[in-house]
Amino acid sequence: VAAICEIVNDDGTMARLPELQQFALDHGLCIVTIEDLVRYQSSQLAQTDSAKLVQQVAMTRLPLRQGIFLAYGYRDLSDDSELIALVHGDLEDGNNVLTRIHSGCLTGDVLGSLRCDCGPQLDQSLDLIVRSGAGVLLYVPDHEGRGIGLLDKLRAYQVQDYGCDTVDANLALGLPVDSRSYAAAAAILADIGVTSVRLITNNPAKRTALEEAAIPVTDVVHQPVAANPSNLRYLTTKRDRMFHEFVGLT
Ligand SMILES: [Zn+2]
Repeated sequence: VAAICEIVNDDGTMARLPELQQFALDHGLCIVTIEDLVRYQSSQLAQTDSAKLVQQVAMTRLPLRQGIFLAYGYRDLSDDSELIALVHGDLEDGNNVLTRIHSGCLTGDVLGSLRCDCGPQLDQSLDLIVRSGAGVLLYVPDHEGRGIGLLDKLRAYQVQDYGCDTVDANLALGLPVDSRSYAAAAAILADIGVTSVRLITNNPAKRTALEEAAIPVTDVVHQPVAANPSNLRYLTTKRDRMFHEFVGLT
């Protein structure tokens, strides 16, 4: 318990640290500085307790076209957003678990848009997990449009219709190129017992982000390129400006 308040001297001037220290001494109080709070907060973050970052609110069986999954519903307590972890098979000791962290994409995943490669990436990941016998797909709806959300993604598409690539379109709108955080995803993986992953991705930034969040990536499993005339420029931009690794994209 703490209180924050302004303390004034008898003459009405603001009490400074030396006066406050005397005041605390006289009345048996502790003084906490902003620096103390910052130090406390970062030490709490450093020894991240997954239970504090995310909360599991549901677990249910979810049969998908590819196979049977267990769906774990999680809430990110930092921003109240919702995530779902789809687990297939036995994760055993949690080491080297085949894992995909999939950024939600309504247009690609649900509507089958050909402007991106999200739909095929989702299907291929679920297929691969089932064929391998076990694994996790973490679906992150809030990562829509690399974090800018559905409507801003559509606005960025509109800018791209006039010739900008996916990076410049975001910049033209004053939006971040990529604002995705992987802290909640890492906390969920830890919570379901995953200690290291074989990560399904073509995006080296995801590997770095997960490792920074204390989930070691023991291997990267590249996905086949799902190129079509509508997404070719988008894919080459991801390769050339965001350093995605596409095998066979020319
Ligand atoms: Zn997409």
